Amino acid sequence: MTATINNRIVLASRPEGAPQPDNFAAEAVPVPNPGEGEILCRTIYLSLDPYMRGRMSTAKSYASPVEIGGVMVGGTVSEVVKSNNPRHAVGDIVVGYGGWQEYWLSDGVGLRTVDPSMAPISTAVGVLGMPGMTAYTGLLNIGQPKPGETVVVAAASGAVGAVVGQIAKLKGCRAVGIAGSEDKCRYVVDELGFDACVSHRSADLGKELKAACPNGIDVYFENVGGKVLETVLGQLNPFARMPVCGLIANYNLTGLPEGPDKLPIIMRQVLTLRLTLRGFIVWDYADQEPEFLREVSTWIREGKVKYREDMVEGIANAPEAFIRMLGGGNFGKTLVKVGADPTA
Ligand code: NDP
Repeated sequence: MTATINNRIVLASRPEGAPQPDNFAAEAVPVPNPGEGEILCRTIYLSLDPYMRGRMSTAKSYASPVEIGGVMVGGTVSEVVKSNNPRHAVGDIVVGYGGWQEYWLSDGVGLRTVDPSMAPISTAVGVLGMPGMTAYTGLLNIGQPKPGETVVVAAASGAVGAVVGQIAKLKGCRAVGIAGSEDKCRYVVDELGFDACVSHRSADLGKELKAACPNGIDVYFENVGGKVLETVLGQLNPFARMPVCGLIANYNLTGLPEGPDKLPIIMRQVLTLRLTLRGFIVWDYADQEPEFLREVSTWIREGKVKYREDMVEGIANAPEAFIRMLGGGNFGKTLVKVGADPTA
């Protein structure tokens, strides 16, 4: 029987700097009924991702912000509990953008059916979902790693970074991670098989990175910006490629950082080293989703790509988990288990 109450989290106010718990509000509203062509979805897993910080702000971006009072956006794995849509039957597991709530209505557009026999269904918003596809498409299309080259990625134990380094290894590269703690670095090397990993909190990141990349850096998959980017820039090889995926160190900034203008130094590096920097959003490569799913699911089955999930229980805990993730408190892909998983 479907519940009658839908617990959800809405945006209560826009953050100044790091989001705080009172930027969010919990609401209990009636579960909606599907209209013609619609599906009622029960959320099982909600993905928490850094891009959501951008949706909380009105700063110009590639997507519109969440309105004050609006349900926070987010990728979800759900069970179809009522359906007026011939393409989705009751009991189907689907991945879509349900947001931070227990129940939601879909018209079927942008909804993908998940095959639970392929991998645990939570992976549909993780290693086999948006973050995994970000790593796959950004690294292969823009990074273009070649055997023997050195690929560096920061936030290396996280949802995107972990996949970047493992694919780099599969392509015959030296994979070097940068992460925020000794524990994370140990996991990146011992479990994920990177060649080395250094902590961005170490006293001399530049020296440690140099020791880990004796032949310089050919591909830097940019996830964080800030101090890490500045350090890496000084160690890039001529013709290095930089897929610019994310700048999480900047997401909570309220103004420009203090200090000298480094743009002339950066542009000099771009020119003299003939660097390629290219920003991208995962859906620029939407047409590559089938090959991504085919290839990465095979690697997972063969034990060549591993993943780790950082899961909290209950929609009420989403704000705290999201705030924690932005500060590096997550260890693996951040997820909320919103409801029972019938496939587990
Ligand atoms: P993660 O699971 O890696 O979690 C975020 C991590 O960022 C934290 O765990 C922390 O790791 C790291 N971090 C936070 N602040 C800093 C800082 N100041 N300096 C260095 N590291 C920091 O997140 P995702 O894998 O989901 O996302 C990684 C990046 O990819 C983000 O920038 C995100 O916006 C971007 N992204 C871009 C997409 C696109 O289409 N372009 C799509 C998906 C993600 P640690 O403790 O190791 O420092």
